[in-house]
Amino acid sequence: MDIVLKRSWAEIDMHQLERNLNIYKESLNGSQRIMAVVKADAYGHGDCQVARRLSLLGVTDFAVASLDEACKLRDAGVKGEILILGYTPPEYASVVYAKDLIQTVISEEYAEAICETNVPFRCNFALDTGMGRIGLLTNEDDGCNETIKKYSSKLQVEGVFTHLCVADGNDEESKRFTKRQIAQFENVLEKMPELKYNHCLNSAGGLWYDSKNADIVRLGIVLYGLKPDYENVIPEGIVPILQWKSVVSMVKWVESGTSIGYGRSFVTKRRTKIATISTGYADGYNRLLSNKGFVLINGQKAFIRGRVCMDQFMVDVTDIENVSMGTEVVLIGKSGDLVYTADDMAHDIGTIGYEVVCNISKRVPRVYI
Ligand SMILES: *Cc1c(COP(=O)(O)O)cnc(C)c1O
Repeated sequence: MDIVLKRSWAEIDMHQLERNLNIYKESLNGSQRIMAVVKADAYGHGDCQVARRLSLLGVTDFAVASLDEACKLRDAGVKGEILILGYTPPEYASVVYAKDLIQTVISEEYAEAICETNVPFRCNFALDTGMGRIGLLTNEDDGCNETIKKYSSKLQVEGVFTHLCVADGNDEESKRFTKRQIAQFENVLEKMPELKYNHCLNSAGGLWYDSKNADIVRLGIVLYGLKPDYENVIPEGIVPILQWKSVVSMVKWVESGTSIGYGRSFVTKRRTKIATISTGYADGYNRLLSNKGFVLINGQKAFIRGRVCMDQFMVDVTDIENVSMGTEVVLIGKSGDLVYTADDMAHDIGTIGYEVVCNISKRVPRVYI
């Protein structure tokens, strides 16, 4: 059977994706080209669809988190360069090579393990300038220059990159730290022979920083129209490309004193019109929204009553007209004059927009408009 639409679905606006890309490029601090970060199924937006569209728009560089993600793109016919940002077990080196992918070298130990496989795959060395995650530490003399040189004869080292960890912070300490990270990255590159790909800027970095050694910006979250940090002001015209919608399955009036949902965590204080929504936490609708969040119906807010269930949840529609079986509900997006973004939802439950969109589960079909 075909996927069932009109239960819970995500609409993705591909024209807005294009607008976001173009506005971002215009507002860059330098003249870098874009490496589109499409890991985690393009932050839940659909990696193959997004990458194919970006290819048509002239993007030739992509980044993913894993070998599986990279192979999926290759097998879908995505041309251009695909960089794997995370760990690939050395025993898969031949796959990296065969699919013409670029692998991140995480550590000297990793470089050594790859050399032992005798597969001279293409790679970028990661530098740890302050993230504390992967990469060669840059704060020790010239150790990493020596390491990279040592492996340059055995592997196809095509680039060096680092990752900024507070480029979205607007306070002085974050700015100082970010500038220091970029300086350390540049310091390593100064003593290196010319390489093809050098990159240190993420979405936030591209907007608010620059580096003479960065030819490429690794653009993730802002491409999808979300903000690295809730307090950030991103360029005008960049807006979310995803809306998440669902429908009402049932509407009923209940008396005052009626409990709603598991655990009876909500009890009505008045005669209340309750609508049941056909989305739940198995769809990625966060359970922390229980008794807290709201959805948009007919341009109005309808607050969640009781706990979010696996496949459904209930809202109060007492003051909203024209709600019945099949009425469209906006979980994330726009309804009338109201807008509720993934960033807003994330802010309400103490996380980040990245997590909200990544968590929209595979049960929710993506529809491209
Ligand atoms: C995820 C990721 C990015 C993209 O970051 P955004 O904040 O989404 O732009 C860039 N570089 C690396 C190494 C990443 O892991």
